[in-house]
Amino acid sequence: MKAAIYQGPGAVEIHDVPDATLSRPTDAVVRVVRACVCGSDLWGYRGVLPNKPSGSRLGHEFIGVVEEVGAEVREVKVGDLVVAPFQWCDNTCETCRDGIQTSCPNTGTFGAAGADGGQGEAVRVPFADGTCVVVPGGMAACDEATLASLLALTDVAATGLHGAVLSGVERGDEVVVIGDGAVGLNAVLGASAVLGAERVVLVSTHDDRAALGREFGATDIVPARGDEGVEAVAALLGRKPKHVVEAVGNPDAWDMAIAMLRPGGTVGSVGVPHVRPELPLFPVLRGNLTVRAGLAPARHYLPDLLQRVLAGGYDPGRVFDLTLPFGEVAEAYRAMDERRSIKTMLAF
Ligand SMILES: [Zn+2]
Repeated sequence: MKAAIYQGPGAVEIHDVPDATLSRPTDAVVRVVRACVCGSDLWGYRGVLPNKPSGSRLGHEFIGVVEEVGAEVREVKVGDLVVAPFQWCDNTCETCRDGIQTSCPNTGTFGAAGADGGQGEAVRVPFADGTCVVVPGGMAACDEATLASLLALTDVAATGLHGAVLSGVERGDEVVVIGDGAVGLNAVLGASAVLGAERVVLVSTHDDRAALGREFGATDIVPARGDEGVEAVAALLGRKPKHVVEAVGNPDAWDMAIAMLRPGGTVGSVGVPHVRPELPLFPVLRGNLTVRAGLAPARHYLPDLLQRVLAGGYDPGRVFDLTLPFGEVAEAYRAMDERRSIKTMLAF
C-alpha cells in the first residue's frame, strides 16, 4: 500500500510501505476514505521537532471503512464506516471511564513510530472496539460535507470543544478564544453550539478565518494580539473575561491568556506546546487563576458529536477549505504551511 512519508524538513513523499495487517486479535484494518493534515503535523514538517526521523509515517486524522477485524473484535464489523480519534484507546480502563481516553495506559497516536498513519491507504487500528465509533448508515448515508465533518471529529472538533470545556464556559457565559486555526475555530463552535455560550470573542488577525469564526458563532472578533489584544478584549467586554481558551500552544498565546483573565478566571489550553512555553506561575498565583490543559479525549466526545453531525446543523468540517487527492499530499502540507489553507483534506 502507499503512505505519506516524512523525508526531512519541508519534504513529504508517497512511498510503498507494507500493507496494514492485523497483529493482535483486538485490531481492525481500516481502509482510509478521507484523511487530513493537522496543524500539529506542521511542527514536524518544519523541522521544529528535531527527533522526528526521516522515514516516519504521517497523519493521525482519518475516517475509513473496516476491511478486516481480529478474532476478539465484537462491535466493529467489516464494511462499517468508522471514525477513529487521533489516539487509540481500550475504552474500558478506569482512565477511559473517567473520560480521558488520551491518557489511557493502552493509548498511542496514529502516525507515531510503529503505528500506521492516517495519511496512507490503510491503517491498523489497535483496540478497534474501544477506538472506533461506527457511523450508522455507513458511506451511503454520507454526502461530501458529512464526510468532512466526521473527519473533523477525529481531532479538531473535539480538541476545540475540549478547550472550551476546560475553560469552564457554560450556557449563557462569555468566553474568549485565542487562536483562529482549525482548533480555535472549533473552540468557537463548541462553546457556542455545544455548550451554549452567549458571547464568544475570537482573537483573529485573518479576515477569512474570522469570517468562518462568525459563522461558527463568534459574536465579536478582536484583530489584535499581545497587550493590545488584552486591552481590546477588556474594552469590548467592559471587564476582563472569566473564561479563555488558548488554542495556539506558544508562549505568546499563553502570556496573552494569563494577562487577559479576570482574577479567579480559568484558561483551557489545548494548543500543543512544541517550544517549551513556561507557565508564568506568579501571575497565576496572584490572580487566583486556574490553568487547565489537556490532550483532547476525542473518543469521549465522539458519540455525542457524531449524533450532532448526522442530525445536521453542526458542521465542524467547514474548516476544510481545500480538498486534494491523496497523491498530492505534499501540496497539502505546503498549502497549510504557507497558510493558503486553514485545513486540507485528502481524498482517497
Ligand atoms: Zn483505557
